Amino acid sequence: MSYNLCDYNEVNKILKKYGFTFSKAMGQNFLINPDVCPAMAQELGADEHTGVLEIGPGIGVLTKELCKVAGKVVAVELDKRLYPVLEDTLSECDNFELVCGDVMELDLSEIINTHFDGMTSVKVCANLPYYITSPIIMTLLESEFAIDEIVVMVQKEAAERLCAEMGTRKAGAVTAAVRYYGVSEVLFEVGRESFMPSPKVDSAVIKITLSSSDEFEIEDKKAFFALVRAAFSQRRKTLVNSLSSAMPYSKGDVTNALKKIGLSESVRAEKMTMEDFVALTKILSEQADGK
Ligand code: SAM
Repeated sequence: MSYNLCDYNEVNKILKKYGFTFSKAMGQNFLINPDVCPAMAQELGADEHTGVLEIGPGIGVLTKELCKVAGKVVAVELDKRLYPVLEDTLSECDNFELVCGDVMELDLSEIINTHFDGMTSVKVCANLPYYITSPIIMTLLESEFAIDEIVVMVQKEAAERLCAEMGTRKAGAVTAAVRYYGVSEVLFEVGRESFMPSPKVDSAVIKITLSSSDEFEIEDKKAFFALVRAAFSQRRKTLVNSLSSAMPYSKGDVTNALKKIGLSESVRAEKMTMEDFVALTKILSEQADGK
């Protein structure tokens, strides 16, 4: 049977049929605006040779659109109560596969490598559960999976951070990761009334295009990201204070290192560019090695 998953009454009927009630803890706000999912699917630039990994299909409103544009869609869903619903709502999609489980615990690399056999590219598309937006995006970036693009809906504030310029107030540790692994842009905003139930905040769809270019010469990625995370973990503090309290460096070590790259000892994380963080990581490591 073909359902209109953007029709409020029809969705209510489906939910009632399966005795489904929304879980706030699982970030369940289902899209109901008929324009959003086709627009997200279109942004992927997918074709019959493209595999799409979706995180959190809900009742399948976005999944259905992805199945129209891609060769294969694999969706990971945590909530067991949605499995029979998806079997029903996506019964006509023969290029869809459901993977049951928690996206934060499953071996995504294995899923990408085994489920998209024969596809020439793999992209991620999702209306992300907001409570784990940053961890999911960090995993997708840092694990260096064989994916080339991420088109996701996130809270508007998260979108601004993910697409901010380094060295500006909106930047955070996740901004540095996005900047290192690719290029990001806000595609369009989506008001809270587009969801069922309506969340308290607005959202935005962003695109991250992953690249393998070595724009930044980072010798020790682990040390670089540890430093960036420590710097932004107490963003109101000066770098001297945040790094000396969260990392094995003294205030003197950090002050000296900042001086060597021409930065003031009162500088805060949000004023640092990628190049500043790269240089600071290098100097602090050298100082620690006694070079
Ligand atoms: N894609 C649907 C839509 O746009 O209407 C649902 C989006 S809803 C914001 C988030 C979805 O992620 C829900 O279906 C929820 O059950 C699922 N989810 C929450 N936590 C998850 C996790 N850890 N792993 C996989 N799916 C999860």
